[in-house]
Amino acid sequence: MATLPSLFISHGAPLLATESHPITKVWRDLGARIGRPQAILVVSAHWETSGLRLTSAAEPATIHDFFGFPEPLYALRYPASGAPDWAQRLSEHVAPHGFAIELDSLRGWDHGVWVPLLHLYPAADIPVLALSLPRGAKPEWLFALGQALRTEGLLIIGSGGATHNLRALGASGPDGGPPPWARAFQEWLHEALVNHRLSDLWNYRHKAPYATQNHPSEEHLLPLFVALGAAGEDGQAHRECAGFLYGSLAMDSYSFDASS
Ligand code: ZN
Repeated sequence: MATLPSLFISHGAPLLATESHPITKVWRDLGARIGRPQAILVVSAHWETSGLRLTSAAEPATIHDFFGFPEPLYALRYPASGAPDWAQRLSEHVAPHGFAIELDSLRGWDHGVWVPLLHLYPAADIPVLALSLPRGAKPEWLFALGQALRTEGLLIIGSGGATHNLRALGASGPDGGPPPWARAFQEWLHEALVNHRLSDLWNYRHKAPYATQNHPSEEHLLPLFVALGAAGEDGQAHRECAGFLYGSLAMDSYSFDASS
């Protein structure tokens, strides 16, 4: 089996679950191009915990963790099965690398997990695991976690946002397009990823332009580092799509080809 890439998906808004959008078309094509992994692990910005937790239920619930959206969104389910056997195996696999994962048989899948999967794998016939984001985790630690998680047959996805300042939704630049501070961060991130400037990426808070303006809190960018780490020290980044929603919300998604 060829080595699977890993992915970082900017998941945007829950509405993308039902709307047809150029971005969701890219997600669909991406899933078709990658083909069928044996299992999928998603690190979502919307599940923050004190330590690492991994879903281990046989049939995790679809969580509708958003408010004020149209009723049909609350009826959606992503009916894939969970992967208790993978959960057990992965927790044992990363333990020697210093990562303690607690299995969680009660937690379901938040919208950061299931909205992209609805498009990436619409048949919902591949077992899915969700991994939490430990509060206060640093990019370099998450990169090492991604390296430790890398397993034959497992597709690792970080689900968050390339920019994510909800208080600036609707903001625009002088030309009516995205605001310059969001564009500057988007472009810096792209250059750093394709040139594999790991040290700059780990220190993005200090190195990137307008880092705190684009990410007042870090949880939507941090899943990127797990996906990046899963491709190894020499992984190659490819931007699968770019663009903005609601003025300032960057929708860039990346695939990372694994180094051998
Ligand atoms: Zn989100």
